[in-house]
Parts: sequence; structure tokens; C-alpha cells
Amino acid sequence: MSSTAVFPSTAGGGVSFTREEINACITQLCYFCGEEEFVDVHEIWGSDFQLDTCCYASHENWVDAMNCPVDGRVACEYIARLLDQYINTRQVFISSDEGIRIDFGLTVKKWERGCELGQKDVKNFINANHRHNAAPAGWKYAHLIYNGSDLIAVVWTGRPVSRHLDDGTTLEVNRLCIDHSLDRALTWKAASVGYKASATEAERMGYSRLITYTLESERGLSLRYARWKRDGAAGGGSWHRTLRPRVDKADTGRKVRWSKQLMAIRCLARDTQHSDHIQEQSA
Ligand SMILES: [Zn+2]
Repeated sequence: MSSTAVFPSTAGGGVSFTREEINACITQLCYFCGEEEFVDVHEIWGSDFQLDTCCYASHENWVDAMNCPVDGRVACEYIARLLDQYINTRQVFISSDEGIRIDFGLTVKKWERGCELGQKDVKNFINANHRHNAAPAGWKYAHLIYNGSDLIAVVWTGRPVSRHLDDGTTLEVNRLCIDHSLDRALTWKAASVGYKASATEAERMGYSRLITYTLESERGLSLRYARWKRDGAAGGGSWHRTLRPRVDKADTGRKVRWSKQLMAIRCLARDTQHSDHIQEQSA
């Protein structure tokens, strides 16, 4: 049986409420301003966001909670539920700088002329973020990986650098570069997603093999995850010769080569392109 509380009413005589009704009423009123409590996500930029609340004090309280390691976890859950009404998210998490951030999950876009980033911007991203190599000269295609509106990684695919592997049926992931200044939660799985995107595109274009290199010191977990095969050690060392001095642009540590066998569907792709072309002409 539920307990009953009595509230004095203006009409006199008192009005009865059940405990459940009082609780429901209390949770809807703001502890600070006494008005109906209101909390919602007001604005999102990148992985960061701003809350809208019924009053300034409530906002302060939320900010304190979000910066507290214990209350922060509860706040994360609450904000995730708020966001569920509007957008898809992978998670809401406490970042390494203790604020709460939104992880939207990853979106992969193939680079195209006229997209928001120029080829030069992609190169700059690689030069700023790659652990040991500068951007190569040319690409066959590139993929941009986003978390929400933030560019978090770039995958650069081109012809094999080693001349004897450049057989016309093989491409190489020349660079897969992640912005490691970002929270790891935001870049989670970016590498394996990037390798997969590159393989799908190579396959679509009719190539039968995709290769890439890692340093011997790297474990290649994302490649294993994307089901690549470890071919074994593959050179490295300096290009510098005493008679032909040159500055090493690339890292000179020993390397490991990885490969991914693809299902060549070039004939199919070419036939489709051909028939599209004919249709355009006759139209
Ligand atoms: Zn309030």
C-alpha cells in the first residue's frame, strides 16, 4: 500500500497525493530555480557540445558533474540518452582532459575533386600526423575518415613504390595516417576501417592485390583485424650512398610487408563504364 502525504491547498481541507506522485513532481522541478527542470543539448561542434538548462545554477551543477570522474559517468549516460533523440552516436565518454565528448562513430569518404579538402590539405594532414613518413608524390585514390565533423584519419593508396611489385594488378596503401593528438576513443578502429575502405576500392577498380608496409616495431593489429596477411620482412635501410648523398625523407627502420588478396572484377567494371559511356553518347 502506498504512503500518502497531505498538502495544504488554497481551497482548504487539504489534497492527498501518493508518495509516487510527489516523487514524480519533485524530479520534474529544478533543485536550483524551482521551475520545471530543463536540460538539453543546445549545440554540437566537433566532439564537443553545449548544454541548455533551465537556469545558470543548474548549468554550473552539470559542468561540475561532467568534470567529476564519478558523477561524469552518470552524466555521460544521461547525455547519451538526450542525444539519442537527434543523432546516432557510438558513445559519450570522459575524455583524457576530463570533459565529456561525443564519439559519433566513423564515416569514410572517398576523396573527390571539389570535396571540402584539397589534395594539398590531405598532404598537409599526413605531414602533420604521420609517425615516420612524409606524404608521397601521387595517389590513385585517398579516403578521408571522419568522426562527426572532425577529420581523424587519411588513407593514401597508390602504385607500389617497389618497382618489381608494380605489375599493374597491385596497389599499395602508401600511408594510413591517424591524428594521434585526438582522444583514442574518437579514433578507435580507424586503421582497420581505412584498410578495408582501400581494399574495397582497389577491388572495385579491378586490382587483385593490395600491399602495405609497417615498421618492424609496429604490431600491425589493425591489419590482422582487417584480415591482411603478413608477408614478412621487406628491407628498409637508408637510401644514402657515399657517391650519391641524399637526405632520407622516409624512416629507415626495418619494415614488414603485408598483403591482401582481392577478387579482381576489372572486366565487369570496365564493361559497365563502357555501356554507361555509350548510353551518354546516344542520349
Ligand atoms: Zn533550474
